Amino acid sequence: MMSHAALTSASAPPRRGMSTRPGRVRLLPIALLLLAVPLAVAAWGLGGYSAQRERNNADTRLIDSLNSAGGVYRDVLSNVDSTATRLSGDRRVQHELFHGGHRAVVWRMRVNKRHPNGRVRPRRGPIPAAAAVRRIDFLSTKGRTIGQVVVFLPLDHQFVRWLAQQVDLGSHRQLGFARGGRLVGAERTLRIESGAPGGRAGDIRAGGTGYRTVSEGLGSGANRTRLAALEPSSYIDSKASLARWRVIGLGLAVIVALLAMAYAVSPSIARSRVSRQERERAERVLAHVGDGVFLVDHDGVIRLWNAAAEAITGLRPDAICDREAAEAIPGWPAVAARIPVARRPGEIDDESSAETVPLEIEGREIWLSIAGVTLPDGIVYAFRDVTRERRLEELRAQFVATISHELRTPLASLHGAAMTLLEREHELTAQTRQDLLDMIGAQSKRLADLVEEILLTGQLDSGSLWVVTEPFDAEELVWTVAATARLRMSDDTTTIAVSIPAVLPKVAGDAERTRQVLTNLVDNAIKYSPHGGAIELGVEAGDGYARFTVRDEGLGIPLGEQKRIFEKFYRLDPDHRRGIGGSGLGLYISRELVRSMHGRIWVDSDPGKGAIFMFELPLAERVIVPA
Ligand code: ADP
Repeated sequence: MMSHAALTSASAPPRRGMSTRPGRVRLLPIALLLLAVPLAVAAWGLGGYSAQRERNNADTRLIDSLNSAGGVYRDVLSNVDSTATRLSGDRRVQHELFHGGHRAVVWRMRVNKRHPNGRVRPRRGPIPAAAAVRRIDFLSTKGRTIGQVVVFLPLDHQFVRWLAQQVDLGSHRQLGFARGGRLVGAERTLRIESGAPGGRAGDIRAGGTGYRTVSEGLGSGANRTRLAALEPSSYIDSKASLARWRVIGLGLAVIVALLAMAYAVSPSIARSRVSRQERERAERVLAHVGDGVFLVDHDGVIRLWNAAAEAITGLRPDAICDREAAEAIPGWPAVAARIPVARRPGEIDDESSAETVPLEIEGREIWLSIAGVTLPDGIVYAFRDVTRERRLEELRAQFVATISHELRTPLASLHGAAMTLLEREHELTAQTRQDLLDMIGAQSKRLADLVEEILLTGQLDSGSLWVVTEPFDAEELVWTVAATARLRMSDDTTTIAVSIPAVLPKVAGDAERTRQVLTNLVDNAIKYSPHGGAIELGVEAGDGYARFTVRDEGLGIPLGEQKRIFEKFYRLDPDHRRGIGGSGLGLYISRELVRSMHGRIWVDSDPGKGAIFMFELPLAERVIVPA
């Protein structure tokens, strides 16, 4: 019986149809780790991209500010134009030009807070180098300039300040006028140390500070002055680097989260791997264990049915599993009540040791030695097929009865004959004395044969029987057996004939053991032909073997019994109702002897018409047998 330790290992079997995905689960931490690498690269790349985008945004903001400031500047310039036009039509100005002795009237314009749209208030003044200038010439009839009205707007700190107030510059952007290596800002004029403001965004260094700048020319009227929008490079850099590290930080956070996840799931994966391995091992053990094992849960439903259980009972797992034991296993309710169930594995005492119970499955009776153990899942049963042992036990019991009978009969005869000879010797005729002595001889021979059979069976069972293999003459052996049998026959209703082919090669085996087998078969043929008949002994050569036959016209053997009569102790008539004695050992001994000489034995019979016993032994040499 399977050990309870094995039962314990069977305690956590996977349910039928249950499936896990061990491969995917095991790969998860590796996949997470592998994902971390491209994520890190992606985060780094995305960080760079964000920084660049921040720089581009700064450029866009500069261009927007410049465009707004340029628009305001052009409004102011058109005011300068209209002022110049207006002044040139003014009578007082014209009088001053033509009668006051001035060649030119110069007006300076200033922007002020009260005129936020850039309207100007002209005043007289000298023309500085950095200024937007509008000149209107008065020409003579001959085309010469005889007077000039000049209106100018100085591109100075004050104008920059005013311009900066008109547009949305945010906190760090500034405006300035660049001309000839100088940058006029809202507060002061800076020297441009490197780079030059251009139409496209670029870097310059002025007054010891780096700037990102974009500028536009203000036309010839402004004397090559450019309006520039600026933002300190340090501010843009800090914003770009902030953007970069924000993205990288986010990426790192995701990676850390992934690693934490991998770390968190690894122990559970390891645990699930271990339990899966244990489950697989238990499954393997269950599949290969020789004992049948099955689990019945608390609802009486069968949850597991191993390969040995199928092999022993012939009931397939798919016909058994997930069904109630009471309906799936024939006769289970009656049987289950008798099966001892231990509360714990290893708890084996007299009461919980295995019980032998019968089951009838598809018309076949099988005997199981079975025990159960309680588990949290239900009860696990382990069983072993003891049908053979059980049958042998029955036969053995029968044998004792048979042998007692077989011993008693000759012993009674012996005793009677001996007592008669002892007590009435002088009253007996010579013939009667002879008959009694013959009977003593025959019965003691019968007893000796019986004892010989029992001893031989013991030797065969223990494997201590000595069998030689050497060439012998089968023909001679058959003749001898037939002649000896004839001598033993008491009636003349039975005849013994011998049939031998012209050529018969030598047989490889033990001549004495072969004679024993043949004698046994002939004795049986005589014994089981109570009404006499023809008995025929024969031997013929086949392809590599010699086939011995013993044919009779006796009782014959039913088809269903033809295999079983070779079993130990098996008799068709155990109760001797037919009056034919025997131990049930003869054919068993014959089969074992033939097998030990590498041959086989079988019977063919028509019940009521007789039987043919045949056995084959290997030939000593290969010969071509003539047809
Ligand atoms: P036994 O000592 O009973 O003859 P065997 O082993 O020789 O034991 O034979 C087993 C059984 O086979 C016998 O009991 C008998 O029923 C049957 N048997 C053997 N030989 C014959 C035969 N020639 N004809 C009919 N039945 C036979």
